[in-house]
Amino acid sequence: MIHISPENFLDLRYLASGVFYPIDSFMSYDEYVCVVKDMRLLNKAIFSLPISLEVEHLNYDIGSKQDLYYDDTLVGFISISDKFKIKKEHIFELYQSKDEKHPGIIKENLKSPYRVAGSIEIKEEFLKGSLYKNFLQDHFKKINKNVKTIAGFQTRNPIHKAHEHLQRVALELCDALFINPLVGWKKEGDFSENAVMKAYEFMLEEFYPKNRVVLRGLQTAMRYAGPKEAVFHAILRRNIGCSHFIVGRDHAGVGTYYGNYEAQDLAKAVEKDLGISILALKEPYYCKKCNELVSEKTCSHKENEKIYISGTKIRQALKNDELPSEFMMRKEISNVILSLGKDNIFIKEN
Ligand SMILES: [Zn+2]
Repeated sequence: MIHISPENFLDLRYLASGVFYPIDSFMSYDEYVCVVKDMRLLNKAIFSLPISLEVEHLNYDIGSKQDLYYDDTLVGFISISDKFKIKKEHIFELYQSKDEKHPGIIKENLKSPYRVAGSIEIKEEFLKGSLYKNFLQDHFKKINKNVKTIAGFQTRNPIHKAHEHLQRVALELCDALFINPLVGWKKEGDFSENAVMKAYEFMLEEFYPKNRVVLRGLQTAMRYAGPKEAVFHAILRRNIGCSHFIVGRDHAGVGTYYGNYEAQDLAKAVEKDLGISILALKEPYYCKKCNELVSEKTCSHKENEKIYISGTKIRQALKNDELPSEFMMRKEISNVILSLGKDNIFIKEN
């Protein structure tokens, strides 16, 4: 019997539903190392983050079948084919950092270092409601047959003006937009699932064309692994049915661990192998001279004319129960978030 973590429970569902394709089982040691070092599976397919099952000890027999329990409920089974201990060097390699203060490394350090691998089964009722492979094709078949290209958008924040700009650019380029906020584990101080989803529900209701935009949460943990996580996010959206994936500035980054466009560069470098087109978009900002949202690709003005859309400033205003600048966030969206009440806007602890 194995008691699995909330994060592994979410992994189990996506392994079973095809969202992590071509992965359908928890990774072996050799696969784990290959992914961490080369961003490749043993069969050479691209995969940028390890999916491994955390256990308290390694007293499991290879070849045995173990019950998987989550919250004292039997949710599935694993047929154990490998067991191993992960090494610190793998974690550093995964995050491309040796800084123990990196939020991803802090989280890894809190976990048990032991892992078991093997094929999985999930009880049907725990697969229900999970996203699945080609979800979008099935969705649009019913409501809009003209949709051929779909841009995926990853976010962990309620919609602000910069993200709206990127989404509108994508809607001009593609037939449809899939807004897929990550609603699994996030770090303390990040926006709550409720704040993100309520803001987007409002946006879809009041602003976006309903037959071209879909909103649904992605239930997996944030790893804060920057460029490698951007590639992982692209793979998942390819599996769900997107033809394109938007990668903006510092995708899945945290602090100053990764360069502003490092995620774009990596995603672009492996684009051919990914099977999804990368929309590498520059950071939009408000330019006082141009009098609209632009980017360094479309505006020639000096720094002092630019107002950057700052997630930190937006969070600070909302924390103080104030409306963020309307250059940064629509007033209606800010009001939707503030109406949730101070205690429900941010994640407090994990
Ligand atoms: Zn300008």
